[in-house]
Amino acid sequence: MTENIRDKVVVITGGSSGLGAETARHLAGEGAKVVLGARRVERLEAVAEEIGLGEDAIVKTDVTDREQVKALVDRAAELHGRVDVMLNNAGLMPLSPLEMERFDEWDQAIDVNIKGVLWGIAAALPHFKEQKGGQFINVSSVAGHKIGQGGAIYSATKYAVRVISEALRQEVKPYNIRTTVISPGAVDTELPDSVKAEGVAGPISDFYAENAIPADSFARCVVFAMSQPDDVDVNEILFRPTKQQL
Ligand code: NDP
Repeated sequence: MTENIRDKVVVITGGSSGLGAETARHLAGEGAKVVLGARRVERLEAVAEEIGLGEDAIVKTDVTDREQVKALVDRAAELHGRVDVMLNNAGLMPLSPLEMERFDEWDQAIDVNIKGVLWGIAAALPHFKEQKGGQFINVSSVAGHKIGQGGAIYSATKYAVRVISEALRQEVKPYNIRTTVISPGAVDTELPDSVKAEGVAGPISDFYAENAIPADSFARCVVFAMSQPDDVDVNEILFRPTKQQL
């Protein structure tokens, strides 16, 4: 068993697939108390059943709705008496060149990837302040460090996650709160399905087929950051598949 994971109360947004679901599996296996949010309840139920979570540990949550994110975090506090980790993971990647004017996708990416993270911070912060402790783990991306083709909006959202997280890190010093950003490269999840633009979806799918590594790569980073002693704040983890160039 890894140090400092057992009995920690961990809220995960985007727990219905990919990185969120895989992290839930790892953390539950290490004895953490996991509470999952996402929109697809049947997918949350499947994950919950697999890892032995009760029905009350899943909450239908659209992270673009501030009240729903608050309800998710408050559920964790009601169930377990505290909240130790807020994993702001929900996101999508609708890559496309700006000239395609896929305005609905711009809105959605900003609402989910930026505002969803902000609502997660807003929901967990009061609990962390009261407890004088807690950890935010916000998911950025290699795209939060580099801009690839069609990546204007997606990269902007992932740079924003890093900016918000660094400001948060500085602001929450008085409350003994840790702030971690994890920036993955290509990991094998459903994320490429969120690329819909003609001429972009195909190459991205090929890129993932060629490069992506399993989702446990990410889950192990979460475990590493969480498992440090309380006085160690791992602020940034950037990782890629060994063969990924950009
Ligand atoms: P998936 O598509 O497999 O999972 C995305 C998750 O986000 C799903 O659980 C989905 O749940 C959830 N989600 C999407 N929109 C909303 C919403 N409005 N409200 C609540 N939940 C939502 O992709 P990943 O697991 O890969 O993505 C997780 C995070 O990792 C994202 O932030 C992504 O940008 C980031 N990332 C992923 C990389 C990769 O290569 N896989 C690389 C770099 C970063 P549901 O649809 O049920 O609501």
